Amino acid sequence: MSSYKAEYIWIDGQKPTAKLRCKAKIVPEGADPPIWGFDGSSTEQAPGSNSDCVLKPIFICPDPIRGGDNKLVLCEVLLTDMSPHPSNTRAALVAVAKKYAEFDTWFGIEQEYTLFSGARPLGWPVNGFPAPQGGYYCGVGSDEVFGRPVVEAHLDNCLDAGLGIGGINAEVMPAQWEFQIGPLGPVEVSDQLWVARWLLYRTGEQFDVSAALDPKPVRGDWNGAGAHTNFSTKYMRENYDACIAAAEALGTKRELHIANYGDRIEERLTGLHETCSYREFRYGVSDRGASVRIPWQVARDQKGYIEDRRPNANMDPYVVTRLVVETVCGAASA
Ligand code: ADP
Ligand code: MN
Ligand code: MN
Ligand code: MN
Repeated sequence: MSSYKAEYIWIDGQKPTAKLRCKAKIVPEGADPPIWGFDGSSTEQAPGSNSDCVLKPIFICPDPIRGGDNKLVLCEVLLTDMSPHPSNTRAALVAVAKKYAEFDTWFGIEQEYTLFSGARPLGWPVNGFPAPQGGYYCGVGSDEVFGRPVVEAHLDNCLDAGLGIGGINAEVMPAQWEFQIGPLGPVEVSDQLWVARWLLYRTGEQFDVSAALDPKPVRGDWNGAGAHTNFSTKYMRENYDACIAAAEALGTKRELHIANYGDRIEERLTGLHETCSYREFRYGVSDRGASVRIPWQVARDQKGYIEDRRPNANMDPYVVTRLVVETVCGAASA
């Protein structure tokens, strides 16, 4: 009998920042990837004496790495009684998304990352530093950008997997890049962002290059890596006042959001490299120094979406999108 390879992918229990894990299962042709399990004592998800954790498939797509009928199977982690594992942040998002379904929220997440060759950012000189930032953002040429073959292969892999990837660009720090996922609903964008991250690491293996979501990979006058989170409700897509109300609502819960927007956010949001300090909250039209930017087209059209610039590259999209929905839709419902 014929069969296909299913690469099961899940989020582990590492703190403060969880990592992706994966393993393959051979599944008979025509069958869906079944519920499976793993050793939670090796992923900081269980004690050795009671180590079994459950993998429940939640998002399945074609596997662009193996090709053919093979599949990628993103899973959520459950306890053996089938309740969500404490490390499972998706379950809470699903509940909040359901509660506020009437708002029809959309998210577009800009995932920044840094390519590394060993311990050094890709293409950086062995001794010293590249020329200061200024010419690298959206740069072209082998003196300006490092790692484009990886970026292009990752883009193709995301497209072949059927993910809602919106684009790519070279970033302000050399060896730093970005891709965007969305706009999609909060659960969909988060599931797909995790799969796109997995594809980034997996694509990097083929080039002997690693990708890091470190929010501040190089100390000093070098940009950190973020995950700007663009967001709208159906009301914001019709009405500018709803966009302003959303920005105001985010300002009322600054500390809660900052505390959940990724580990070491205070190293990135110093106020010196775009986006203001994590201690402040500001919003403004076209303002890349603000916490929340209202794109100029949104001000012109008097409707659209807003960009929360604060989330770190290492954030958990299940947590960030849940908080944004709770804060913005909660305030609009009050
Ligand atoms: P930037 O100018 O900040 O670099 P990008 O083009 O990288 O912007 O990202 C903008 C993101 O906003 C994209 O992911 C896009 O899908 C998303 N977006 C566009 N319109 C909406 C909307 N109405 N609601 C939510 N997200 C949106
Ligand atoms: Mn961008
Ligand atoms: Mn960017
Ligand atoms: Mn942005």
